[in-house]
Parts: sequence; structure tokens; C-alpha cells
Amino acid sequence: MHETDMTKALIVTIQDWWDAQPERPIIQKVHLIVGTFTCVEPASLEFAFEVQTQGTFLDGAELVIKDIPLVAHCHTCRSDYSPDLGSQYACPTCNSPMEDIRSGRELKIDRLECVTA
Ligand SMILES: [Zn+2]
Repeated sequence: MHETDMTKALIVTIQDWWDAQPERPIIQKVHLIVGTFTCVEPASLEFAFEVQTQGTFLDGAELVIKDIPLVAHCHTCRSDYSPDLGSQYACPTCNSPMEDIRSGRELKIDRLECVTA
């Protein structure tokens, strides 16, 4: 289940940041940007996050996931389109194969909401 590994990486990233903060703030919310093309299930990610943060400095923090739709660019038509997930990834106008993904592969921390302890 790759959400588990992603969550581990996510927590390590937050921990690195948190360790560098002199005041050790309490993290209330973790805002994430998740592209739909990453095939990450938000529900699985939330579950993994909750399990893995129990008893840690992130215990009780809420994961807020923002979906970014898949957008591709067709060089033939010079236009952007948004293919349906799971279908053939091709331009709906000229049927060129999808080769240039503009968004939808993001998986990153947008921002953290903290209060000072
Ligand atoms: Zn096209």
C-alpha cells in the first residue's frame, strides 16, 4: 500500500521542519496538495496519517487534502484538456497520446497550521 510509505515520507519532512523550530509549535493542520494522477486515495492517506502519528508530535493533527485535477497539454491542438482517469489518456480533440502533463502529479505539503505551545 503506497499510501503508508508516502505518509512515512511526509511525517519525516514535517519532523525535519519541526525539529528546526526553536519554539516547537503544536501542529494543528497539515494542508496537502495531492494530484489526482498520483493515484493516492485521500481516505487511505488520512487513515495512514492518523495511525502513524499516534503518540508522536503530530498526534491529533488533521490532514487537509486538496485535490489537483489532471490537466494535460496537447501540442497538436495547442490546448489544455483534462482526461478522465482510467480511460485512454489522449487528447479528446485529435486523439494524440497524452505526453505533457501540466498538473495532477503533485504530492506536497502546501502549508502547516500551528499554534505556539
Ligand atoms: Zn489535440
